Amino acid sequence: MNAHAPVPSAATPSTAGCGEVAIRQERGQRAVFCGLTGIVWLHRKIQDAFFLVVGSRTCAHLIQSAAGVMIFAEPRFATAIIDERDLAGLADMNDELDRVVGRLIERRPDIRLLFLVGSCPSEVIKLDLGRAAARLSRNLAPAVRVLSYSGSGIETTFTQGEDACLAALVPEMPRAAADAPPALLVAGALADVVEDQFARLFAELGIAPVRFLPARRAGALPEIGPNTRYLLAQPFLADTARALEARGATRLPAPFPLGAEGTTRWLQAAAEAWHVDPARFAAVTAPGLRRAEQALGPHRERLSGKRVFFFPDSQLEVPLARFLARELGMGLTEVGTPYLHRGHLAEELALLPAGTQVVEGQSLDDQMDRARAAQPDLSVCGLGLANPLEAEGLATKWSIELLFTPIQGYDQAGDLAELFARPLLRRTRLEV
Ligand code: SF4
Repeated sequence: MNAHAPVPSAATPSTAGCGEVAIRQERGQRAVFCGLTGIVWLHRKIQDAFFLVVGSRTCAHLIQSAAGVMIFAEPRFATAIIDERDLAGLADMNDELDRVVGRLIERRPDIRLLFLVGSCPSEVIKLDLGRAAARLSRNLAPAVRVLSYSGSGIETTFTQGEDACLAALVPEMPRAAADAPPALLVAGALADVVEDQFARLFAELGIAPVRFLPARRAGALPEIGPNTRYLLAQPFLADTARALEARGATRLPAPFPLGAEGTTRWLQAAAEAWHVDPARFAAVTAPGLRRAEQALGPHRERLSGKRVFFFPDSQLEVPLARFLARELGMGLTEVGTPYLHRGHLAEELALLPAGTQVVEGQSLDDQMDRARAAQPDLSVCGLGLANPLEAEGLATKWSIELLFTPIQGYDQAGDLAELFARPLLRRTRLEV
């Protein structure tokens, strides 16, 4: 299901300059997934966590269909359905929730961390999931910790679910000793294979200790304190960053580790903070850079000169646009993003080609009209827009795939390029 979250009336766009990139804001109807979607990749990442959506049948269908591409022996997410009786205030939702959670924990004693995930219905009936989580945590301690966050379409879009989930974890992180040596924290869910590659590179650079948020196990949350320097691995973590900074951590400004250039600059930000010798940095990164260059070559031939249009969806749009323009020679017709954190994206914006049109927010009809007029070679969009665009003859790439596929780091640069090359190749084959 594509969760539409309409915002009333298109507002007059405002223009603000950021270097030589034109940033425009747009407000109107949106067509994006809600934050529940993040459960699909987060439940794979935190291996002993369980996500219990407190929502409606619609919410259950959304997650099932988003996760439908995978086969689970024992899924680690479920929906506690709020039905008409609950909505009419005829049942005590808190009692029912306690019963559902009790049954779940009895059946699944492997659960160490339980997230109660809020939805539109739980928000509408003003169910206080924060209080419910505190109560359940007390009842189930020490075996199970219960936290809550909102994935509702009223409050979040798509990747903001991960942001809300990680922000809920930050207060649980143990405090580092005041005299602890500097430590690096990488914030943002990465596929395990990517995390392992980065851990190896940091070790070769002599940067230690390095920890990741989220951790793979609920009980292995990294320490945090004023000694913590953190790198964002994802561009959609505004609340998480705020929470980390409230606990004393300092962000290392960097572009995101997408493509060879992004990965090098991201690693470099940490290397500079740890005063790594430039010669050592060059030696450690050279093999990865070489592999990435080799992998990108064939895709560059296919994609160079082609024009891409980004509909706002994942908040990955700006770093992806930078990668496609600078490493693959693609033209950027329009770079839409649901939300633009100017601070976290500053290094990315500075790398975009002069004159790039960045549009923050969405007015769906206007954007569809602009895409039709521009006739890009490829449109990157949510699932709900892909079919109508394809029906009009425009090639599309589902942005959700960019969250489900390991794309960060040197060894994934070729795979990332291939995700964009594949729809064009398929189209060429169909035409032949
Ligand atoms: Fe739809 Fe809201 Fe449930 Fe998301 S949280 S699936 S937008 S009802």
